[in-house]
Amino acid sequence: HADVALYCAKSGGRGNFQFFEHGMEMSKEQDHELQQDLDLAVQRDELVLHYQPIFCFSRPEPVAYEALVRWQHPVRGWVTPDDFIPLSEKTGQICAIGDGVMRRACQEAMRLPNDATVAVNISAIELQQDDLVAKVQRALSDSGLSPSRLEIELTETVLLSGAEATKCLKDLQALGVRIALDDFGTGYSSLAYLTKLPISKIKIDRSFIADVMSNTQSLAIIQGLIHIAAGLGLKTTAEGVETQEQLLLLRAAGCDLLQGYHLGRPMPLSDIESHYRSAPVKLMHR
Ligand code: C2E
Ligand code: MG
Ligand code: MG
Repeated sequence: HADVALYCAKSGGRGNFQFFEHGMEMSKEQDHELQQDLDLAVQRDELVLHYQPIFCFSRPEPVAYEALVRWQHPVRGWVTPDDFIPLSEKTGQICAIGDGVMRRACQEAMRLPNDATVAVNISAIELQQDDLVAKVQRALSDSGLSPSRLEIELTETVLLSGAEATKCLKDLQALGVRIALDDFGTGYSSLAYLTKLPISKIKIDRSFIADVMSNTQSLAIIQGLIHIAAGLGLKTTAEGVETQEQLLLLRAAGCDLLQGYHLGRPMPLSDIESHYRSAPVKLMHR
């Protein structure tokens, strides 16, 4: 029981404690089942990628797509990453999953319209592996994708991993790949990271966008982040844009890029072309 509680405490970050509770026991058994299923899923290639478009204000078509992993489980149906990525990080399965995602995203990016960039999420565990840079390099050379069309998204927890992670990021940058800080503003948002690490973009967490119309504090944070980023020569992406009002406000605030259900949900590669032939371009509406 202490072991189970320790796991929960660790997953909540550092400087934390956790008493054992009965619900946790259940979840450990469920986790075990899910872990076995996940191994099979990797072997059977049941993991697929959906792509969510990312827009800038000056072009009607997406400039980038974020690859988001999905699991089509034979019994449970579609399983979202929030339901299996944290588990796979605990078990180490994330390394095999991440490698598969990177290879597939690079291959599929060759079919994206307008030479759009593909953004791939990488977890902190992957960044701690010695072979990450070699894996990325192989995915690029096998697919023929130009490194300038690949962007890697990392959350701030990655940055707690220390000097080795920093070196790894620099090696990735040397390949010509760009790095974005995901979900910015929610975790350990040390502004010092923005100057020390080879980052080219910050993605403002969707929790700030969600209440920007009603909460002046969220607006102040968004404006502040955009201002800091611009001063440092970094681009900003707003995540979770769900309404036209939010879009207009973000444009006025000087945000560079937008992503959210208002502009497009994650979709299979096969839907992308037909979608952008028929979709109204909301971005251009004043
Ligand atoms: P993320 O990287 O921040 O990805 C954005 C998430 O926000 C996606 O959820 C997306 O569907 C959702 N989203 C986008 N627009 C909106 C919106 O307008 N409103 C709302 N409410 N949500 C929106 P998803 O696909 O469930 O992914 C969740 C998280 O799982 C991702 O967050 C990412 O951290 C992780 N993830 C996904 N794929 C991978 C992967 O291949 N590797 C790793 N390590 N993590 C992944
Ligand atoms: Mg992301
Ligand atoms: Mg995000």
